[in-house]
Parts: sequence; C-alpha cells; structure tokens
Amino acid sequence: MIAESWRAARSSVPPGHLDAAGCNVPSDRTLDAVVGHLRHEREVGGYRAVPDLHASRAALAALVGAGADDVALLESGTAATAALLGGWPLPPGSRVGVTRAEYGSTLMLLYRLARLRDWKLLELPVDDDSRLDPGGLASVLAGGLDLVVLSHISSHRGVVQPAAAVGRLCRAAGVPLVLDVCQSLGHVDTGGAGATAYVGTSRKWLAGPRGVGFLIVPGLAGGMDAAAPALGGHGWVRGEASPFGGHGRVREEAPPFGGHSWVREEASPFGGHGRVREEAPPFGGHGWARGEAAPLAGAARYETSEGAIAARAGFGVAVLEHRALGPAAVHAHLAELGVTARRLLDGIGGWRAGEPLDEPSAIVTLRPPPGVDPEAAVEDARSRAAEASLLIGAVPVSRAPADLPTPVLRISPSPGAYQEDLHALARVLDR
Ligand SMILES: *Cc1c(COP(=O)(O)O)cnc(C)c1O
Repeated sequence: MIAESWRAARSSVPPGHLDAAGCNVPSDRTLDAVVGHLRHEREVGGYRAVPDLHASRAALAALVGAGADDVALLESGTAATAALLGGWPLPPGSRVGVTRAEYGSTLMLLYRLARLRDWKLLELPVDDDSRLDPGGLASVLAGGLDLVVLSHISSHRGVVQPAAAVGRLCRAAGVPLVLDVCQSLGHVDTGGAGATAYVGTSRKWLAGPRGVGFLIVPGLAGGMDAAAPALGGHGWVRGEASPFGGHGRVREEAPPFGGHSWVREEASPFGGHGRVREEAPPFGGHGWARGEAAPLAGAARYETSEGAIAARAGFGVAVLEHRALGPAAVHAHLAELGVTARRLLDGIGGWRAGEPLDEPSAIVTLRPPPGVDPEAAVEDARSRAAEASLLIGAVPVSRAPADLPTPVLRISPSPGAYQEDLHALARVLDR
C-alpha cells in the first residue's frame, strides 16, 4: 500500500533509484509547489508571494512532539547545525559529549567551536556497531556534561541510535540534547526522544526539494540564539532600559531607518564610511542604540529574512504528504525494505553489511571485500550499478573519519522502491 501510494504521487520515478538517504525523489505536488511559487513570485512580486507554511511547520514539529513556533527553516541541515551550535551559550570549560560516529561536518564544527570557546569534547562510549551505550552515557553524564550531540541515524551506517533512552538520561541529568534527525525524520519514529533541539533536512527521507534544512527547538532556553543575528530573526533593542530584558522583541518595534542617520561615528558599523553629524537626530523615539539586537520569540530567531522560499513551499507540501501517507506505516515499510536488502546483499561478492542485518532502518551499507583496494572497489561497484540503471550512494571516509575505516556503498530505498531493483543490484555485486 505505502509503496503504491508513494509511486502514485510521482508521475515518474527514475528507474533503479536507491538513494533516498542522499537525495530522494520529490512528488509531483512538491515540484508543482516549487515551480508554482516561483511563477507566483514573478506575477505578484517576490515579497508579496509569501506562502502560508503554518500547517506544514506544525506537521513537521509534531513528528517530534513540538509546535509550529519551534520550527526554523534554513538552507541545509549543516546550516541549521551551525546556526544552533554556533549560538549555543556554553561557557568556557563546558563539556560536550559526542560519539565517534558523528557526522563529519558536525564534528568539524564542534572541533572549531571547542578550540575557539574552550569547550571540551568528550567521546561517548559506543558498542561494536557504533551504537551509543546508554549505561556508558549514564556514567559520562554522572561525571558532568553540558551538552550531548547525537545523530539519530548516521549518514554512513544504518544503525538507529537509542534516542528515547538517550533523551530520558539527558533530561534526568538536566543536560540538553541536540538530536540530528537528518537521516531519521520520515524514516523511523522520532517521537520519543524529547530532545532540546532537532536538526534536519528536506531532501532525504521527507522527499522535499534540495536547499532546505530546519531546526526544531522545543527546548529553547535563555541565551539560545542564532550564531549570526539577522534582521529576519531579530529586532533592535532600545538603548536604554529595555522592558524586554533583551529578549522577545517583535519586529514592529524595530525603528525605521528613513530620515535618520548615525549619531556618532564610533557607533557606525561601517568603518570609515558615512561620516555623520553630531547634531543628527538620535533616532527619534525609536531609540535603537549601541548595536543591540534581540531575538524574536521562538525558533524564528534562527531564520534569515531571505531564503529559497519556493523550495520551502515545496518542502511544506512534502511534509504534509508524509503525514497523509502515515508516518508509522512508512517507518514499518522502510524497516522491512532495509532488512530485506541486507539479507539479500550481505555476503554477495564478498561485500558485508555495515550494520546488523535486522536493524530497523532502510540505510544499508556494504563494506568492500577484503583484499581489494576499497576505494576502487566502491567506485567500480557504483559505476557498474549505474550502468545497470541503479542509483546507489558511496560514502567516503571523510563523512565519519573516526568511525569508517574504508569507504562504503550505501543502498537506501525510498518507500516506493522496487524489490526487483534490489535483486538487480545483487547481480551487479555478485562477481
Ligand atoms: C545529510 C546529513 C547532514 C547534513 O545535512 P545537509 O542538508 O546535507 O547539510 C547532517 N547529519 C546527517 C546525519 C546527515 O545525513
């Protein structure tokens, strides 16, 4: 049923598409929403063509038990992570727990933030499948942690992390949890984690367009703000005695720029430009001063005013379609596809599954046979698959350098994938 409904929503699906974890196949309605919005922008003016995404934001947030105001739309999962962690108010000396299987870009960001802000990164204990061990996490938490960052499912391994247990332990210890759901939202159940914040992306399991990522921040707390405050998510604070304590300002209270000029040269962010007169009026009654910006209420603070609005409109449709399909049924179907694929492919041509055969996910990784050059083997297998009209992924070591000894093949069927394509891949690998 799920497979048929998923295919019926797409007038054409590229044959042999087994790369949902890389970039999924958007539905016709999703594409129509993107193109339709671009046309609408042209017809009425870009700034007047504002899509109402409230229902989509609410549906997206509901997948993690949050509300529409907890959602911020950005341009990628990576941008969302950078916005969130870059603005995270952790003091020097703070301890951040992360596993060796964390996503490459997130690790790069954490290494840099740790160096710049004097955070300490602590490796969280994992088992042989790189699954976080809750007992081990409890011990690390007992020793003192200030933040845990975890990918629910990795890009390079189909293991589903015990997010609900991790969330429970973190909450009990009063430690915020950032859960990366780029590979899990739309794929497995994400409802039970109770994380402080979630990071996700449109084009993978939710089958939205490229160019959209998101944050869901149900646990927004004092001091959490975007790494780079922007006019879309912030307002100017009054120079003197703001009744808002620096937070929760609304856009309407930002002053108009017209008719005013900078009061003092040293207050100007423009360096040598724009000499100003000392007698210039000090912003009338609006009184923004000293360059203070305060975040808007909710997750809106993480957004910028400019963005790929048409792509967001398409993403909104994809989210509603996922909900209409029935997330629980999608999860069950994908888990079954993944297990089927692993049982079929494990051992063929010497390739071995990188996760337990019965892991309930549709990310299937295959490690190259021993005794061959792994890079060449992965590239060769991928190009032979392409010749057989099969689109599969290849995951380089850089995606998870501490966890991946060699590149791997990645097979990630969408809900509409055909079993025949898995059999065709088995024939390609069997030689
Ligand atoms: C894809 C992915 C990301 C990054 O998302 P982008 O939208 O590509 O920036 C982060 N974490 C994981 C686990 C991913 O698979």
